[in-house]
Amino acid sequence: MSNVFTLSLNTPAYKGTVSCKTDLYINGQWVKPAEGGAIDVVNPATGKLITSVSAGTSKDVDIAVEAAQKAYQTSWGLKVPGTVRAELLFKLIALFDDNAEEFAALEALNCGKPYGSAKQFDIALCRSTLKYYAGWADKTHGETVETEENKLVYTRREPYGVVGAITPWNAPLVLDISSSRRWSMYLTLRLQGLFLLKIIPALATGNTIVIKPSEITPLTALRFADLIAQAGFPPGVVNIVNGYGNTVGEAIAHHPEIRKLSFTGSALTGRKIQEASAKTNLKAVNLELGGKSPSIIFDDANLEQTVKWASAGIFANMGQICTAGSRIFVQEGIYDAFLKGFIAESQVFEAQTGDPFSGNTLHGPQISQTQFDRVMSYIDSGKSDGATVQIGGERHGTEGYFIKPTIFTDCKPEMKMVQEEIFGPVAAVIKFKTEEEAIRMANNTTYGLACGVFTENGSRALRVAHALEAGTAWVNCYNSFDIKVPFGGYKMSGFGREYGKASLELYTQVKAVHINIGMKL
Ligand code: NAD
Repeated sequence: MSNVFTLSLNTPAYKGTVSCKTDLYINGQWVKPAEGGAIDVVNPATGKLITSVSAGTSKDVDIAVEAAQKAYQTSWGLKVPGTVRAELLFKLIALFDDNAEEFAALEALNCGKPYGSAKQFDIALCRSTLKYYAGWADKTHGETVETEENKLVYTRREPYGVVGAITPWNAPLVLDISSSRRWSMYLTLRLQGLFLLKIIPALATGNTIVIKPSEITPLTALRFADLIAQAGFPPGVVNIVNGYGNTVGEAIAHHPEIRKLSFTGSALTGRKIQEASAKTNLKAVNLELGGKSPSIIFDDANLEQTVKWASAGIFANMGQICTAGSRIFVQEGIYDAFLKGFIAESQVFEAQTGDPFSGNTLHGPQISQTQFDRVMSYIDSGKSDGATVQIGGERHGTEGYFIKPTIFTDCKPEMKMVQEEIFGPVAAVIKFKTEEEAIRMANNTTYGLACGVFTENGSRALRVAHALEAGTAWVNCYNSFDIKVPFGGYKMSGFGREYGKASLELYTQVKAVHINIGMKL
């Protein structure tokens, strides 16, 4: 029997109980780690302990992979038709619906994400990942290929077998139910679930999975395991092994029986994942990594809208979004007006900073003391490199890991805080004169995840969107995701595409079958 974490919350935003088991979920059972070990889970709004969860090691990964292999061969994979997989996934949707508010509360508790009045809307968006891929489970198929008269050739989309997945802390499962502002609609869809975004398409396409959530935010993943069990997935199809990156993460990355690994996290770790694949079994890898995404604002942009999109682009989720629009290039004619509006908008975030459960909070804490220190060190480097703090630049309050929304001006492209991913609520605003200059500066980064272009000139909008080196380009909007649209990075922001049909391709390999129906040698 697993240890269980339970907490009753009586807050303005949420009244009810949150709970989850705290051990490892392997082979359909809650088990203690083979070698003992635990991780403290901390509430970032207070800095206080929420609970501790079991921490696995490579031994637990071995056990989980063995269970996943057995399940793949006996009760999942090619043995189970897509219609059956779809039925189980649809059961999961119903179970998720029944518990969605608790998921939102657990996530707010563990991640410091504001839990607000728009929760119903977010819940609908969470369902869309489940629904979208449940719908695909019986529709993934190959094709016949015309070759020559006496031959039949067709392809099959086959699962890999056991896939591994490793996820970060910034969007563990269901997030950012913060405000009824229009932009939150767009954010929630992206943030709804790195965990779901890996598990659900992997299962829909017939794979079994061994997944490691971030050691900082394991609670909703553990709660989700209960739903997997309740829905009736065969034991071993989903295995959740909590633990640290240098133990469980490395063991997954090096495991010779894992054929495919989907990773979301930092570029630093992404490099190690790629190296591990190269040194072991050349497992197929997709990497969803960080960014330093630019927004380019031209003189003719709609000022009011642009200010809102740009603010949401950097301050939403406290800047902890891989696509955060952290470099904002503004043409000289609109510069002063934009800056004035941008500062005013950031004051709205600042005024609504605080307890994620207060009901109208817009801006919560950074995820951990480590991230708090990291973001503050970038702020310090900006100050010492000669950039000017227009607003923020310091902590908010005395407890937890809150940092005020921060805007820097007088930034030079070579400054550390302009070049490196901060992953916090820190914007660098840079003035430009010409389109060419803006494109050159925007592309001057090792990353290439996303970009925004703000202009009323249609030709220029498309020209610039095409010239920027990024996997996603938004025109007159930002962080506007859709589950049906592929997403991923250029350059050191990674490779492979998630979302939409692209995720189905990620988790399947193509076999071509050639049949002789009359060829003679
Ligand atoms: P991280 O790289 O530190 O950790 C990510 C995961 O990798 C965690 O589960 C961690 O335990 C694990 N890990 C750490 N070292 C490992 C190792 N040696 N081998 C295997 N696994 C290891 O990243 P983070 O701080 O959790 O997340 C923030 C980063 O994630 C940012 O760079 C952000 O931009 C990126 N991110 C990218 C996307 C995307 O879709 N492109 C989405 C969200 C976050």
